[in-house]
Amino acid sequence: MGRIVLKDVAKSFGDVHVIPPLNLEIEDGEFVVFVGPSGCGKSTLLRLIAGLEDVSGGVIEIDGEDATGMPPAKRRLAMVFQSYALYPHMTVRKNIAFPLKMAGMDKAEQARRIENAAKVLNLTDYLDRRPGQLSGGQRQRVAIGRAIVREPAAFLFDEPLSNLDAALRVGMRLEISELHERLETTMIYVTHDQVEAMTMADKIVVLQAGRIEQVGSPLELYHTPRNRFVAGFIGSPK
Ligand code: ADP
Ligand code: MG
Repeated sequence: MGRIVLKDVAKSFGDVHVIPPLNLEIEDGEFVVFVGPSGCGKSTLLRLIAGLEDVSGGVIEIDGEDATGMPPAKRRLAMVFQSYALYPHMTVRKNIAFPLKMAGMDKAEQARRIENAAKVLNLTDYLDRRPGQLSGGQRQRVAIGRAIVREPAAFLFDEPLSNLDAALRVGMRLEISELHERLETTMIYVTHDQVEAMTMADKIVVLQAGRIEQVGSPLELYHTPRNRFVAGFIGSPK
């Protein structure tokens, strides 16, 4: 589960064509990074996949099913927001439980999923604290926990580390990579940071002005960049 296919997906805001029709296949279990400069359409593309924006054209398939018109909650995708999206007045447990409670899940199943997520993220001892009593890294893990409990087909990350300091960012990068190895679930990760792209991705999608410039593994992009833009962005010597 977690195969996502975009067929001629396009997006305009009014007269502005932010994403011209593009095609992309994301395989089950892949760690895919969307990378490109600020304003190139990374967040828009992620929001189209999540269903937070409607496409202007094209089809989005999730696990073989046409998801184009589906509301976000039905897509079984979990968007991980930055840690500041936590509710400060709620405990970690309640923050993590929030999407399950909204879905009307029974208490015992909620508890089981919260325990599992806490174990995976090393948050078991912090469940009764509030976000203000946690470090930046722990808060980010709570934000991820809120996604894990939904047991999604794929996780969608939009620059989740951009308001952490540099040292913490390196640690969280490793934690997210480890989480991907443990869960083996598709992850789509948006960043403007080449280092994150090169170190985390199975597959990198390089975007410029809404267009896909190249798709490939970090090594492919490094050794055979298709053009100067990709070479420059990836830091390839070519
Ligand atoms: P990135 O995430 O790569 O920085 P975005 O996807 O946020 O880029 O934005 C891509 C382009 O789409 C930008 O030019 C931005 O101004 C425009 N855009 C994004 N959202 C909207 C919107 N709701 N209305 C109008 N223009 C938008
Ligand atoms: Mg963005």
